[in-house]
Amino acid sequence: MPYNYDDQNIFARILRGEIPNKTVLETEHTLAFEDINPQAPVHVLVIPKGPYVTYDHFATEATDAEIVDYIRTIGKVCEMLGVRPGEGGGGYRTISNAGESGVQEVPHLHVHVLGGRPLGRMLQ
Ligand code: 5GP
Repeated sequence: MPYNYDDQNIFARILRGEIPNKTVLETEHTLAFEDINPQAPVHVLVIPKGPYVTYDHFATEATDAEIVDYIRTIGKVCEMLGVRPGEGGGGYRTISNAGESGVQEVPHLHVHVLGGRPLGRMLQ
């Protein structure tokens, strides 16, 4: 089934500059910005600039350059925000919700980077 990208979703509008955001890091293919409703002291969303709905969409259709840029940006965000384990940051969690079962609110791929407090066990 083809992926249908809705170019009116909130993150598409953020990328077009129609809605303001608190940018943490911007690269050629990726934008990282603060979540509007943070669930932890560090709660950053990392999105590709391209029109990808979910992680699997991105992983199958994005260019190698986009994928490398995206993954490296997540790493840089962890470094910049001081959450890397073993450096006093205590660690972090990455989450990417997809589709109905994953309870994805915004249909543009985003990885949540959460940290700055003990996050508890998520999977049993
Ligand atoms: P999802 O449930 O799709 O994984 O997460 C969507 C996230 O986007 C939520 O954590 C929500 O707080 C965040 N969000 C929704 N609208 C906006 C917005 O306009 N600006 C920012 N910065 N975050 C948003």
